[in-house]
Amino acid sequence: QMPFKTMTAKGHMRVIIMDLHRDNMLKGKRVIVTGASTGIGEQMAYHLARMGAHVLITARTEAKLQKVVTRCLELGAASAHFINGSMEDMALAEDVVKEAKQLWGGLDMLILNHIGYTYFNYFDGDVEHIRKLLEINFLSYVAMTVSALPMLKESGGSILVVSSTAGKIGIPFVAPYSATKFALDGFFSSLRQELIIENISVSITLCILGHIATETAEKTVSHVMQKPGAPKEVCALEIIKSGALRKRELYYPYTAVRIPLLIRDWAPEFLDSLTRNSLNVENVKRS
Ligand code: NDP
Repeated sequence: QMPFKTMTAKGHMRVIIMDLHRDNMLKGKRVIVTGASTGIGEQMAYHLARMGAHVLITARTEAKLQKVVTRCLELGAASAHFINGSMEDMALAEDVVKEAKQLWGGLDMLILNHIGYTYFNYFDGDVEHIRKLLEINFLSYVAMTVSALPMLKESGGSILVVSSTAGKIGIPFVAPYSATKFALDGFFSSLRQELIIENISVSITLCILGHIATETAEKTVSHVMQKPGAPKEVCALEIIKSGALRKRELYYPYTAVRIPLLIRDWAPEFLDSLTRNSLNVENVKRS
């Protein structure tokens, strides 16, 4: 595979699509994607549809989900369904998995991607906000995993957890969000070890993403970023590919994410200052 820099986003996607199609890796597979009404999740649903997978998507906004389902069917999904609701409610997390069982009798891939709204600013001291965000961004991931594990064990399936550089290193202005993403690393990295010890063939892929040009990111963080975000379509495909290949972790965009992680444990103060200097902090006004 050619390095990203030397290729256009479209060219890069074509290479990955060819890889996945050649092996027909996802045709007929049964996949849940959360947070799939917009952004990276929506793009993942479209890629899975093109590959001929069965998709069940979820988020809060019914009208958007309906549109994504219609598009998935046009693109060639084996089947496409949605359930709408908020992941603050653990019952929804369980219901989505139950729906997959009813629809398909099993599950091959669980893609956990949704996040609740948070601010990008100095920590405002609101503890309740952190509690709520932990429920949406972390506890619902655990609840869905618990419900889905019996089916995933049966199919030898995969769990994909979408995280962030803010789930691996200290980045300013995202304290509540960062806490929820670090929690995902702790829980899923520990669970992965247990699955391996017990010889259970369910893979867990933690996806560490840098800045991606989704509408939400453009609205909330682009004024502080010195470089434009990476394309969401390529990002979505890289996530699916890393799960299909049962990788331990994905770093996307590779250099922007991997290098800070390599520096992290050797020169933490240096990385902290690099991180601060990579942001236009003067554009963040205390609210
Ligand atoms: P978006 O804001 O575009 O998508 C978030 C999704 O979650 C939407 O479908 C939204 O739909 C859904 N959602 C929001 N609140 C809830 C809720 N309470 N219950 C259920 N679903 C909810 O995000 P991105 O595509 O930018 O991000 C996707 C993933 O990638 C996230 O895990 C994020 O942390 C990660 N990431 C993104 C980066 C970026 O720069 N974009 C960088 C690093 C990581 P609805 O509003 O209809 O509910």
